[in-house]
Amino acid sequence: MSKRDYYEILGVGKTASGDEIKKSYRKLAMQFHPDRNPGNKEAEDKFKEATEAYEVLKDDDKRSAYDRYGHQAQGQGGAQGGFNQGFDGFDFNDIFSNFSDIFGEMGGKRQGKKRSSSVQGSDVRYNLEISLEEAFKGTSEKISFTIANACEPCDGTGSANKEKPTDCPTCQGSGRIRAQQGFFIVERTCTTCHGSGQLIKNPCKNCKGEGRINKERTLSVKIPAGVEEGNRIRLANEGEAGVRGGKAGDLYVYISIRKHDFFVRKSDDIYFEMPMRITTAALGGAIEIPTIDGSKAKLQIPEGSQNADQFRLKSKGMSVMNSGGRRGDMYVKINIETPVKLSSQERELLEKLDKLLQDKTNNPNVNRPTERCDNGLSCGVVIFPNK
Ligand SMILES: [Zn+2]
Ligand SMILES: [Zn+2]
Repeated sequence: MSKRDYYEILGVGKTASGDEIKKSYRKLAMQFHPDRNPGNKEAEDKFKEATEAYEVLKDDDKRSAYDRYGHQAQGQGGAQGGFNQGFDGFDFNDIFSNFSDIFGEMGGKRQGKKRSSSVQGSDVRYNLEISLEEAFKGTSEKISFTIANACEPCDGTGSANKEKPTDCPTCQGSGRIRAQQGFFIVERTCTTCHGSGQLIKNPCKNCKGEGRINKERTLSVKIPAGVEEGNRIRLANEGEAGVRGGKAGDLYVYISIRKHDFFVRKSDDIYFEMPMRITTAALGGAIEIPTIDGSKAKLQIPEGSQNADQFRLKSKGMSVMNSGGRRGDMYVKINIETPVKLSSQERELLEKLDKLLQDKTNNPNVNRPTERCDNGLSCGVVIFPNK
C-alpha cells in the first residue's frame, strides 16, 4: 500500500511553519479522535494517519529527513514501513504530551494535564407548566426538586477534617491512565480516583468524600410576562453542586404552557371563538368578550355579520416579553348558533320570518334548488327546495 504524503495528509504546504502544522493536526485530531467517533474504523485510520504525519513533521530532524528521503526516512531508525513499527521510533512520552496539549482543551471543563480534584456539577433541566394567564401576567413559581447540594459538614470538601486531597497514586493526579491497545494508545479514566486525580484520606461520612449530597431544594423562579412555550430560564449555579467544591452547574427551567379552555395563543396574539345567536348576528349589537387579563372587552357586532367573521381587539392579546407592557391583539371569530328546541310560538315566528327573509342574504343561492355546483359540474351536492 502506498502511503500518502505527510504534507498532504495534514493539508499543509511543504513550507508550512511548525505552528501551521500543529494547528492543522489539531483540527484533524479533534475531528477524527476515536473518543469522538467510537467504532468508526475510518475515523480511527484517519486519526492514526494524521498523528503519524504530525509526529514526523513537527520534528525538524525527522521532517528534513522526510523531505529528503520520503517515507523511506523512517527506515533509517531501524523500523521499516508500516504504522505499527513506525511508532517505535518515537518517544511515547512525547506523544502523550501532545495529547494532553491538544485534548486538554477538548474536555471543556477539564483543564490541562493535571486535573483539579473538583469537578463541575452538571446542568439540570426542570420542566415547568404554567397557565396561559400566568404566561400573560408573569409569575413567580416555587419549584422543589432533589439535587446534589454541597455537603454542609465538610463544606463541600469531601474531607471529614476539611483537608486538602492528595494526588491519586495510580494516575499521579492526572485522572487518566494510558494503556496501549495494539499500536494505538488510549487514555482511560482512572478507576482509583474516578478521574478526579485526587484522593481524600479521611472522607466525610455524610457525603462519603464526594463533597456533595442529594437534598431537596426549593427555589422561586421568576417568570416574565409574555413567556412562550419552550422558553428556558437559566438559574446560574442552581444545578448540581460540583464534586469537592467544584463549580455548580446551572438550572434550566423549561416553560410549557397549558392548553387554555377557550383562548388560543399564536405568538403575541390571542384567538377566541365567540358563539352567537343568529339574531344577534343579523341585528348587530354590543357583546362582552372575556380577555386574557381577566377583564371584559366590549365588541360591537355590526348588523348582518356572517358566521366566521373575525374582529380584532387591538392590544387585548398576550404581553410581549420585555416590551414594557406592550400587548398583541385579540381576534374574535363568531360562530353562529342556530336556535334549537323550539316552542310552538317560536316555530311560528320563525316560519313567518323565514317567508319574509327570502332574498335577504348575500348569497343568491341560499335555499335554491340546484343539482350543480357553482362551476357548472355535477359534484353530487343536491340542495332540495324548501317547499
Ligand atoms: Zn487516579
Ligand atoms: Zn461531606
